Amino acid sequence: MDNEDSSPEEEPEDSIDEYFRCLPTPEGWVFQVGIVEWDSPHTPHIKWKDFRKWQQEPSTKRKEQAKAAAVKRWFRTCSYCGELHNLGHMYNCKMCQGCATDVLGVVY
Ligand SMILES: [Zn+2]
Repeated sequence: MDNEDSSPEEEPEDSIDEYFRCLPTPEGWVFQVGIVEWDSPHTPHIKWKDFRKWQQEPSTKRKEQAKAAAVKRWFRTCSYCGELHNLGHMYNCKMCQGCATDVLGVVY
């Protein structure tokens, strides 16, 4: 987080955008969070969970607030690489699976 070398498109915020979506439904707008789950150790899938609902199309600010709240609940920052990861991609509460492979030699 503290190095300025990375270009804007590599910010962690952007890399997790695929886990959020806001959709119109017959009842209103729903903001969903993608939770990574594993059918087996090698086959993850994303389960979409309703997180917020609105009667009308939410403003960008509301969506940002919903996203921030969802990040707190379903994402963790890896202590090793400093990136934000879906809980389903965390090896434990401090380390992501990528770092577990690099640091601990865990093979998936
Ligand atoms: Zn990591």
